Amino acid sequence: MTVRFVDLMAQWADVGDEVEAAVVHTLRRTDLVLGHDVERFEEELADYCEVAGAVGTDSGLSALELILRAYGVGPEDEVITAANTFIATALAISATGASPVLVDVDPRTYTIDPLLFEAAITERTKAVVPVHLYGQPAEMDSIRAIARRHGLVVVEDACQAHGARYRGRRAGSLGDAAAFSFYPSKNLGAYGDGGAIVSNDGALLDEVRLLRNYGQREKYRHEVRGFNHRLDTLQAAALRVKLCRLDGWNQARRERAAAYGQALRAIGIEPPHVVDDVEPVWHLFVIEVDERDARRQRMLEAGIDTGVHYPIPIHRQGAYADLRVAAGGYPITERAAQRLLSLPMYPQLPLDLIPVVVDALLASARPTSGALT
Ligand SMILES: *Cc1c(COP(=O)(O)O)cnc(C)c1O
Repeated sequence: MTVRFVDLMAQWADVGDEVEAAVVHTLRRTDLVLGHDVERFEEELADYCEVAGAVGTDSGLSALELILRAYGVGPEDEVITAANTFIATALAISATGASPVLVDVDPRTYTIDPLLFEAAITERTKAVVPVHLYGQPAEMDSIRAIARRHGLVVVEDACQAHGARYRGRRAGSLGDAAAFSFYPSKNLGAYGDGGAIVSNDGALLDEVRLLRNYGQREKYRHEVRGFNHRLDTLQAAALRVKLCRLDGWNQARRERAAAYGQALRAIGIEPPHVVDDVEPVWHLFVIEVDERDARRQRMLEAGIDTGVHYPIPIHRQGAYADLRVAAGGYPITERAAQRLLSLPMYPQLPLDLIPVVVDALLASARPTSGALT
């Protein structure tokens, strides 16, 4: 492979020594469940996100589920989210017993279309989960205004947007509460699974803190029926090291996105749309192309690994065969599933490989090289 899609070994070369020291330090203390590193990481993450508090969880999925449960979402309720997202967003809603209601996305940003969101609200709607897809925050001012008018809770799925800003404010501080994932390839990734809830709502933070740890504040006194969704302490030790690097890594992603943008415009391909007064963090660098699958294959043969986010929309998945699909379906999401192509993107991606990727992308438009003039 000439160009990897994501290269976690390059990241290890960057922070491995520090992560190793931090993890070994925690191992020696045998402080292995919640404890010092989880508490400190929660404080540091809350400061980073410019919110009142954070609660570590074992994944992004459980972070979303616990927020919804803490806000009282359950069977009989509907929760609206974007049709073009990772399945975890819908699964978190289903886990509470509520029904996910999908709405189509804005064709420029692939984030939830606020007008379609408003049109999908019913008496049963309890919450909306905008997804900051690919690292770009959703249209939060409109979403918040609509939600306030209808008395809905706003839960950000910020699992791809660690550090992004919207009108100057951090992703994670834009709704009632937000969920992050620390899956290894996310902008802030653990060495295994992890997640977090951040919020300015003290009562919400208190409730999810109970829910993630067997419903107990004090050992063996169980106030509510909780779960075990704690953030692993060794992961928290590693995440504390990596959080210090996040802004630098996001800056490196921005430089790579800018280089892609220039090279793509030069060959007549439109780079991803960036909304005014928004700072995306380029979790993924996603373009649209014709004949995506054939071109992906040709790029792979040329040594360039790419991705598709996402090839099968949620409403076409076996898991959601019983989902009520909106009248007219989801044309933007359907079209995107055929055309989206994610180019290699990670902070250590050598800048001189970007023209190599874009050349291979250009060449992939031709069935055999030299066949077209
Ligand atoms: C990664 C991701 C999640 C879920 O995160 P896990 O930690 O894998 O559970 C949820 N939503 C989106 C948009 C994601 O990208």
